[in-house]
Amino acid sequence: MFETYCPVHESNVLIFPSSIDELVNTERGIVVRYHCTCGHEGAFVTGKRATAVG
Ligand SMILES: [Zn+2]
Repeated sequence: MFETYCPVHESNVLIFPSSIDELVNTERGIVVRYHCTCGHEGAFVTGKRATAVG
C-alpha cells in the first residue's frame, strides 16, 4: 500500500496492492503501474536504480 497524488481526486490517495496492475523491470528501475479507485491510471519508478539515473 502506498500514497500517491491522483489528479482526478485532486488529492493524495491510498493505492492498495490489489490496485497495482503490473511491475516492470526496466533499466531506469522498477516501473509500477497502478489504477486509482476512480479509474485513473498512473505509474512511477521505484527501486535502487531510480535514484542512480542522472
Ligand atoms: Zn483517483
